[in-house]
Amino acid sequence: MKSAKSLSSFRLGGIHPPENKLSATSPILDLPLPALVTIPVTQNLGAPAKVIVKKGDAVLVGQIIAAAGGFVSANTHSSVSGTVAKITDEVDSSGYKRPTITIKVEGDDWIEGVDLSDALVTDLGLTNQEMMERIVTAGIVGLGGAAFPSHVKLTPPKGKSCDVLIINGVECEPYLTADHRLMLEQGAELIVGIKILMQLLNSSRAVIGIENNKRDAIKQLEQLLESESGIEVTPLKVQYPQGGEKQLINATIGKEVPAGALPIEVGAVVHNVGTIVAIYHAVMKGRPLVERIITVTGKKITKPANFRVRIGTPVSHLIEAVGGLPMGSGKVINGGPMMGRALTTLDAPVVKGSSGILVMDGSESIRREAVACIRCAKCIDSCPMGLAPYLLKIWGERSELERAEDELVMDCIECGSCSFTCPANLPLLDYIRLAKQGVGRMLRERSKS
Ligand code: SF4
Ligand code: SF4
Repeated sequence: MKSAKSLSSFRLGGIHPPENKLSATSPILDLPLPALVTIPVTQNLGAPAKVIVKKGDAVLVGQIIAAAGGFVSANTHSSVSGTVAKITDEVDSSGYKRPTITIKVEGDDWIEGVDLSDALVTDLGLTNQEMMERIVTAGIVGLGGAAFPSHVKLTPPKGKSCDVLIINGVECEPYLTADHRLMLEQGAELIVGIKILMQLLNSSRAVIGIENNKRDAIKQLEQLLESESGIEVTPLKVQYPQGGEKQLINATIGKEVPAGALPIEVGAVVHNVGTIVAIYHAVMKGRPLVERIITVTGKKITKPANFRVRIGTPVSHLIEAVGGLPMGSGKVINGGPMMGRALTTLDAPVVKGSSGILVMDGSESIRREAVACIRCAKCIDSCPMGLAPYLLKIWGERSELERAEDELVMDCIECGSCSFTCPANLPLLDYIRLAKQGVGRMLRERSKS
């Protein structure tokens, strides 16, 4: 194994927040089903899905309840068997109301044709088209958080090709350990999934990028790959945000994706480890995406854990499973401490893009008083995208959207490194997100005219 000094990393910026991987040694547990699941109709970037069930319908696990609304969209499935109780707008993890299908849980009966055994399947003799159809039907989206429909990433635009498939096993967010446990416990499934993607992308090379704080997972995958060719494991320096798509490409293959461009421009396609295991299950087992691995953690949580959870399970059910909300809890974060957002309700459901629930103690979650910018440039030094966060904050605060656009606000990956380093405690990312939302609206309007 390389020494820490010689490990690869990305070129610009980066920080070293405390890791706090409290649940790293907790094996994945199956969370019992809740009494009700609330499944947001649309859980993907792109076009909304369309509801195809009605109140009172009986549904099975894996049944499509909302169909993809276009090519850049994804099916949504029931994660339980039971009866559709209501179809209403409910508050989700974003704090906004969204169309949601609530199902009364009555059992765990699956649709026909799903292989529920744990036996590893390495080949079914399927054609590329058949494999792609299974991925589309299963509603697979990026499980690293972006929830971009996976089949779209597997369909490079005309004239572009994938030279290297990059597998994101970085999990650089402090506290989160779901991907770490997945690599340790389902490495064989991951490798079959990687081979499926290499075949679909017609790529002869795959690189698995893993931060060097997960040495057991690195060792495990290296052992599993001993007799394989074309797939390599690259241990990476522990540096946040190593798991950002452009940062990972830079760290693993040394290429820079230009501003506003996609990874395919440099011959790369990136998928998260969780997504690839979900693709394995879709192709080799016929399993739709109805569950995912999620970390539930926090310094005051009695037993930080990693659970296999059905989509639509309320966050409150996960918190009960780790001993309940500790006295003095401040915030409950959906995601990790760097990129996650505080939940407004514990009734919010787990969705395809949920990676962790972090319970912060009241003392941890207090925002320190913000003072005036001291022009120290620490935010610039830490930004992995080479932006000027102090300026973006000003344009966001003043709603000067053209200026924010000129300063490339849309390149911001919302990693939070700037806010983390700011000695003036300025909520830089909050204002930058505001600016991004405004510029996004402006660009959509512009494209219509
Ligand atoms: S949140 Fe955006 S502006 Fe701030 S450091 Fe990350 S990429 Fe740069
Ligand atoms: S880190 Fe904070 S104080 Fe320093 S320049 Fe940036 S915004 Fe100003």
